[in-house]
This record gives sequence, structure tokens and C-alpha cells, in this order.
Amino acid sequence: MQLEKFYIITGNIYWSGGRIGTSKETVEIAATTENPIIRHPITGLPYIPGSSLKGKIRSLLELSTEKERIANLKQKIEEIKKEEPSGNDRKHKEWKEKLRRLENYLNSIKNGEPCGCGLESCQICRAFGPHKNVEHKLGPSRLIFRDAKLATKEDINGIENLPEPKYTLEDIKKYSTERGLHYAEIKSENIINRYTGRASDPRQMERVIDGSLFKMEVVVRVFEGDEGSGSKKPEDNPNVKILKKGIKLLEKDYLGGSGTRGYGKVKFYGMKIDGNPWENF
Ligand SMILES: [Zn+2]
Repeated sequence: MQLEKFYIITGNIYWSGGRIGTSKETVEIAATTENPIIRHPITGLPYIPGSSLKGKIRSLLELSTEKERIANLKQKIEEIKKEEPSGNDRKHKEWKEKLRRLENYLNSIKNGEPCGCGLESCQICRAFGPHKNVEHKLGPSRLIFRDAKLATKEDINGIENLPEPKYTLEDIKKYSTERGLHYAEIKSENIINRYTGRASDPRQMERVIDGSLFKMEVVVRVFEGDEGSGSKKPEDNPNVKILKKGIKLLEKDYLGGSGTRGYGKVKFYGMKIDGNPWENF
């Protein structure tokens, strides 16, 4: 498989009260609560791990295509069943093994695990990599998600329509020093007893300061034959398209934990491909 080029996709993430947690032990220096967020070990600055972004976008894409992926796998299984080799030799064994694996992938989807179907028709497996599938022929995963660090003033220069309040790395450092914050917000929560109406079990959760801006980067690997229908516009590359679909789903959902309780709304701004504005993003 010939690697032709890379598309570099950049943009800024506006994250409202987001929380990607970690264990207290790993952020000893900066940990101020029992429920710290993930931070750089030296600077103590919060960031969004590429793995979190990738995992969330992938899971939303999978949830929105589950029926289709199940139907495609079932169809494939039926096709393979018709190809049963006669006799009981090595070929037959291989056929049986192939069938067994396909049925495993089908069950995994039904159990809510990441897609591992590895079918030609599965754009999710191609873009993100088939889960626990070592015999697929899709080639390397096309999307590479970098960790997203806090954006600087320069990073957001020229981007219109950013909501207020918004905070760059410089703002967060300045306000944190002034107000004695650890680059994050500490939020107190509790549980309300249904009968007495009293609050109990107080706990403190850490989350990023509402309106923090992060700089994101996703690399799209383009292999020979990957471009869509003869078009050379990066916007038409199917792996770029699926990334866009996933980002749009993410904007309606949330990134990080506790999203049903007001945490983690995200919106993407200033999206570019190879430094040029992403057309019709
Ligand atoms: Zn798949």
C-alpha cells in the first residue's frame, strides 16, 4: 500500500466545563481534589488526550451506524456460508475459522464493543482501525489524533464567532495566578435525599475552566486509492468526511465525563486543512 500524502487538519476546541479524569496519584503535584482532571505532569496544564477525542468520536459514529454495520456483517456471513468448501481438509478448516471470526465481530458489535468487522464497506474500521482484528486488509488506520493543548492568543488569531467568555493559555495562566486557581475549576456536588430534600455525600470534582480553548490536530493519512470519486479536494476524501461527521455528532453530544450533568459541551472553530479554511465545514 502506497502512502501518498498527509492532510493536516487543525482547529480550536471550545470546551465548556469539560472533565477528563485521571487518578489522584498520577497528578500528585497539581491535584487539589479527590477527582482531578488529566494534566501535563510538569506544567500542570490541562489538555485533551488524543485518545479521548478519538474514542468519543468513534463511539458516536458507531452508535449512529450500528444497524448498517450489523446488516453488512450478516450479509457477509451469508455469503461466506455459501462458499463452504467440500471435504474436510485444511481449506474447510480455514473456512470454518473465518466464519467463526465474523460471528465474533458481529457479537462484539451487539455487546457494545468497538467495531472490528474489518469489512471493505466499513468506513469506521478503515479510518479508526478495526478493533481486535489482526487479519483485515484495510491497511493502517487513516486518522491520527494528537493531544490537544491549551490554545494561545496566536492560535485563535483571526477566528471569528468565538463565544464569550473565552480563555487562552495566557488568560488561564494570568487568572490562575491572580486567583490562586490550579488552571481548573473545583466544583462541589452532592446527592439529594428524595424524602428529606437534604443534600448529602458532598464531593469535589475538578473540571477545566468553562470556555477554555484548545488547539486540535488530526492527521489524515492518504493511501493510494483513498481519494473519493476522482476528486482531489481534501474535503471529498472519505476519511476527512467521516471525521467531519464525527465532529458534528460530538458537538451535539459531549466530551469527557458527566455530560448529562452540564459538563463537556464542545464546539469546533477555525477548522483548516493544510492551512486552508475547510470548505463548508
Ligand atoms: Zn467495522
